[in-house]
Amino acid sequence: MQLKIALAGNPNAGKTTLFNQLTGARQHVGNYPGITVDHKEACIIHNGRRMTITDLPGTYSMTAYSAEELVARDYLVNERPDVVIDIVDSSNLERNLYLTCQFLELGVPLVIALNMIDVARDRGIEIKVEKLQELIGVPVVPVIARSGFGKEKLIEEAISTADRKEPWQSRNISYGEDLDIAIKELVEVISKHRFITDAYPPRYTAIKYLEDDDQILEKGRKHDQHVAEKLEKIVAQAADHTRKTLDVYPEAIIADQRYGYIKSIIRQGVQINTYATDRLY
Ligand code: GDP
Ligand code: MG
Repeated sequence: MQLKIALAGNPNAGKTTLFNQLTGARQHVGNYPGITVDHKEACIIHNGRRMTITDLPGTYSMTAYSAEELVARDYLVNERPDVVIDIVDSSNLERNLYLTCQFLELGVPLVIALNMIDVARDRGIEIKVEKLQELIGVPVVPVIARSGFGKEKLIEEAISTADRKEPWQSRNISYGEDLDIAIKELVEVISKHRFITDAYPPRYTAIKYLEDDDQILEKGRKHDQHVAEKLEKIVAQAADHTRKTLDVYPEAIIADQRYGYIKSIIRQGVQINTYATDRLY
C-alpha cells in the first residue's frame, strides 16, 4: 500500500531542503486550488515501498488565522497522511515546538526531524535527543537537511510510525483549572452528539472552539445548529470568566499554556547552552 507522508513545520525550518533530499528531482510543483500557496508533491520508492511525500506550507500555528495554516490543517484532516514529519529548527527549539504541540493536540502520527543541528552546534546549543524524545513522546531524529545527514534514519522512522497505524489521539495538555473544566464540558457535548468528530478528535474541536477558530465554528453551525449553540454558550461563559478574573480571552491562556508545556520539557535538560551568551533555560 502506498504511504502518504506529509512534511510540516515553521517557515524556514528546512522543509523544502529536506523534501528535495528525500525526493530528488521527482517533484511536482503546483498551487492549491484558488490560492497562491505552493503545493509540492513527489512519489518515491524506498526499499520497495511506494510513498508520496507532500511539502506543506510553512506555518507557526494550526488555527484558521492564515491561508497557509488552513491549507496545512485541511490537508492533514482531509487527506489523513499516514505520518507527519514535523521539521523543527533545532536552533530555535522553543518557537518551533509550539507548532509541534499543536500537531500533538490534533493527534496525527508524528515524527520530529530535528533539523539544523549544525547551526545549533555552531551557536553552542546541544540538544539531548533521547531526552526530548522521551518527554515529548514521539520519535525524534536529528538531521541536517542541507547535507542529507540523517535522512535514511528519518524515513525509516517515518515508515515504522506509519505502519503502527495508531488512531489519531489528542495529547492532553492542561490549560489550567478554568479552561480544563470548560474543555471537559465541551468534550462531553461533542462526544455525545458525535459533533464533527470524524475528522477531528473531540478534544481538538473543543480547544478550537475556545480559540475562536472561524473555520471550526462555521463547520459546527452547519453541522448542527443546536449543538453549536450549546458549545458556543459554554465558550462564552468561559471567556466571560477568564476576562473577569484574568483580563484575558481563553485563546491567550491556551497559547501561554502551550509555551509553558514546551518550556517545561526544554527545562528538563533537553537543551544545553554551552556558550553563556545565550539565555539559559
Ligand atoms: P522551508 O521554508 O521550511 O522550506 O525552508 P528551506 O528548505 O527553504 O530552508 C531555509 C534555509 O535554511 C535555506 O537557506 C536552507 O539552505 C537552509 N537549511 C535547511 N536545512 C539546513 C540545515 O540542516 N543546515 C543548514 N546549515 N542550513 C539548512
Ligand atoms: Mg519551503
